[in-house]
Amino acid sequence: MSREGNLEAPTRHPLDWQNPEFYNQVSVDKELERVFDICHGCRRCVSLCGSFPTLFDLVDETSDGEVHGIPKSAYESVVDQCYLCDLCYMTKCPYVPPHEWNLDFPHLMLRAKAIKHENGKTNFRDNLLSSTDKIGRFAGIPVVTQIVNQVNKSHLARGVMESALGVDQNAWLPEFAVKKFKQVATPSANWPVKDGAKTPGKVAVYATCYINYNEPGIGQDLLHILNHNEIPYQLVDKEACCGMPKLELGDLKAVEKLKEINIPQLAKLAKEGYAIVTPIPSCTLMFKQELPLMFPQDADVQLVKEAMWDPFEYLIARNKDGLLKTDFQEELGQVSYHVPCHSRVQNVGKKTAEILQMIPGTTVHVVERCSGHSGTWGVKKEFHQTAMKIGKPVFKNMASDEPKYISSDCQLAGHHIEQGMAEAGLKKAQMEHPLSLVAIAYGIHQQ
Ligand code: SF4
Ligand code: SF4
Repeated sequence: MSREGNLEAPTRHPLDWQNPEFYNQVSVDKELERVFDICHGCRRCVSLCGSFPTLFDLVDETSDGEVHGIPKSAYESVVDQCYLCDLCYMTKCPYVPPHEWNLDFPHLMLRAKAIKHENGKTNFRDNLLSSTDKIGRFAGIPVVTQIVNQVNKSHLARGVMESALGVDQNAWLPEFAVKKFKQVATPSANWPVKDGAKTPGKVAVYATCYINYNEPGIGQDLLHILNHNEIPYQLVDKEACCGMPKLELGDLKAVEKLKEINIPQLAKLAKEGYAIVTPIPSCTLMFKQELPLMFPQDADVQLVKEAMWDPFEYLIARNKDGLLKTDFQEELGQVSYHVPCHSRVQNVGKKTAEILQMIPGTTVHVVERCSGHSGTWGVKKEFHQTAMKIGKPVFKNMASDEPKYISSDCQLAGHHIEQGMAEAGLKKAQMEHPLSLVAIAYGIHQQ
């Protein structure tokens, strides 16, 4: 007899993506039907994203109200609404392994996306948007940067872009920095390495595409915080994209190519005793969870997983080691802080909020719900309105208590929330990344 819910801690099975059976349409349709049927009987996840309401609408439209009546061709509409936030798996589902029903909804969606990509059904726009480092390298050419930024700001050009590419003209898009992070990064001082019981005393910064090409100031704030705490650091020399945007598209071979560039150098740093710190939660999650599940036999991938830290997870552990300075100079007042889904599913607790709460004269209002942005998904024309709808409760909640600052570890979510608050006519607050808030509090933030 099957048991209702799990008593054991959830586990996750490796992703069997190199097995030809993984791409067998008949077998994935069978598995989709099995899982959809369980979800139909449960419906706990209805409020999480667009996938579940789409599925339940499809069920309700059948003649007998059962999953077997849904045409297989309609399954794709459920899959397309999933942006792999992992929340259903990590926070709601009682049937994940080791439960005998063995339900991993996000990885089943990923499998269906991978088949779609393998069959050549992803479009030019999706492939372009997920090539974050290629776009960054191109848009980072000085004269191109200005043109791209002007296009982003022009209503007319955005209209053309929407028709030609399917990028919603109302979606916030990041500007490209005139100088990349590597060009402006402050070199490390020659601090002696002080290892703590919980933390390595030297840091390697995997900057991420977003920090490299869009907002290098956040990376600089991270370096200043490390320097303030007398932690020597170095940048990862030739980093490529972590692969998360390609994973979200189902392009698993592209993920493998990126992994082959990143992992050898990151594994070398891990072996040398560095803590590898990554300031964007989706990229941290890629190294901590998705790559280890895709390459369970690769010892270097597992090594990098162990050496990878969220910056606030590192700072809190450093504090426990008695090695974090708390000489904060500036009070932050009221801060509304949003915990992004890809931080929540790392299972490290609310470390960012813990650090912000250590700053005198600072009150932190924590908002723990999906903002709806989800990487490149929320800027696509067919999904942007849904992304704004999913984010509505977050926009409202972030504005309560009239914050001086709004903040999210995911800077894309932060901008999405800022846009949603403005569109809803909610009171404006200054948007800063949590690392910038800590730098402000230390008195070391540079504009
Ligand atoms: S992973 Fe996130 S987006 Fe995908 S189905 Fe689950 S909750 Fe929805
Ligand atoms: S993913 Fe799990 S919790 Fe969510 S609706 Fe399906 S069975 Fe229920």
